[in-house]
Amino acid sequence: IAPDGTMTFKKTEAEVLMAAIQLGISHSLAKLHPKPKRDLLVPDFQSVDNVHFPHAGSDNTPGHKYHDFSFKAYSPIAFRHLRDHFTIEPQDFISSLCYYPLRTIGNPGASGSLFYVSQDDIFIIKTVSSKEALFLQKLLPGYWINLHQNKRTLLPKFFGLYSYSRKGTKKIRLVVMNNLLPSNLEFNFKFDLKGSLHGRSASSREISKTHPTFKDNDYLLHFENGIVISPEKYDLLTETIQRDCQVLESFAIMDYSLLVAIHNISKVRRDFDPLLTEYTSPTTEQRATAALRLSLSLDETEILEHKVFAIVPHTQMDSFTHDYISHLPEGYILARLPCGDLAAVYLGIIDILQSYVVKKKLEHTFKSIIYDGDLISVHKPGFYSLRFQNFICTNVITKDTRIRDPKAVNGP
Ligand code: ATP
Ligand code: CA
Ligand code: CA
Repeated sequence: IAPDGTMTFKKTEAEVLMAAIQLGISHSLAKLHPKPKRDLLVPDFQSVDNVHFPHAGSDNTPGHKYHDFSFKAYSPIAFRHLRDHFTIEPQDFISSLCYYPLRTIGNPGASGSLFYVSQDDIFIIKTVSSKEALFLQKLLPGYWINLHQNKRTLLPKFFGLYSYSRKGTKKIRLVVMNNLLPSNLEFNFKFDLKGSLHGRSASSREISKTHPTFKDNDYLLHFENGIVISPEKYDLLTETIQRDCQVLESFAIMDYSLLVAIHNISKVRRDFDPLLTEYTSPTTEQRATAALRLSLSLDETEILEHKVFAIVPHTQMDSFTHDYISHLPEGYILARLPCGDLAAVYLGIIDILQSYVVKKKLEHTFKSIIYDGDLISVHKPGFYSLRFQNFICTNVITKDTRIRDPKAVNGP
């Protein structure tokens, strides 16, 4: 980052790269569009489409105010199938990524990747190394199988893999993924969890940021026995994580994290009404008003209420909370924090493109000499996966069987 605030990545200004991404992606999608849809074939996973964008423009590319560059789309047909699977319309993909400026976001990671977020918050673009890009192409067939077998998967949604190159600079590879964290929500806590405790505390530099990313040890300090979710959610979530980890392990993937962001709903409620000392349950009248305002049927508000009752005691629900929850961006699970507060939790597995086979061999033998083998963050994939699952399912989330089960409320 230069003193005037310009961000540069591999000698390319973030803004120049953004313009190239926008030209490249819209061109690539426009080129795919007229091609008739057909089944995905194995060679589609390895194909690459290269387009040159001269400054002055050409027969099929527009002119632009930057240096000549090339833009590659990797496995374009495979990614078209993936976007279809995730119900991303081509037109929406283009307009989210290419019609408005992308925002760059600060990266707490050590790898020095650059991140962009689309203005509508749906997509994240991350720069990745050549090894990671190559590995993603190798991973795609197995990833595709997992999507079909494990519908609730928490793995990143990959929407595209591209690269930018220009004479005199190094090639930059880019992955387009889903953004897990809505930027219009205030997160009280954000954690990057690996299940390892060695060196896994946020640095003082990180903590001094407005929105720090905390780590495993910090989580144990804040939420010692984990946050509580309903028994059904707990069972589904742990099963999903187990299945995802099995896939990651089969590809010898390591060093991935669970990103967990916590939005405290009770705090919003208190801030809205500081005089409120105790929650009251909504009266039938209040419920009817809320239903009317939300244009939901009374049945639907009851379902929502049951969802919440599974988490908080009956007396903590009121129509404000009701209303508030029904307007949250989707993708959250409701949880009770150890202090008793109700929270919306957004989570997902991230950073899955490092394979042990490719890179970690040396580091492992080296570090295990220095540290106690159980605690280091670089370890064999099977061990990594097991430790990750254990940590998430015992220390991060727990179930409280005393909490009312919505199914029991509704009857069979
Ligand atoms: P390192 O390899 O040093 O851990 P990295 O450059 O590979 O870092 P990631 O670990 O992928 O980066 O992500 C770094 C941070 O960026 C995460 O802790 C999280 O705060 C944010 N982030 C990453 N992916 C997403 C996503 N899909 N949605 C929202 N935020 C994300
Ligand atoms: Ca990481
Ligand atoms: Ca990484």
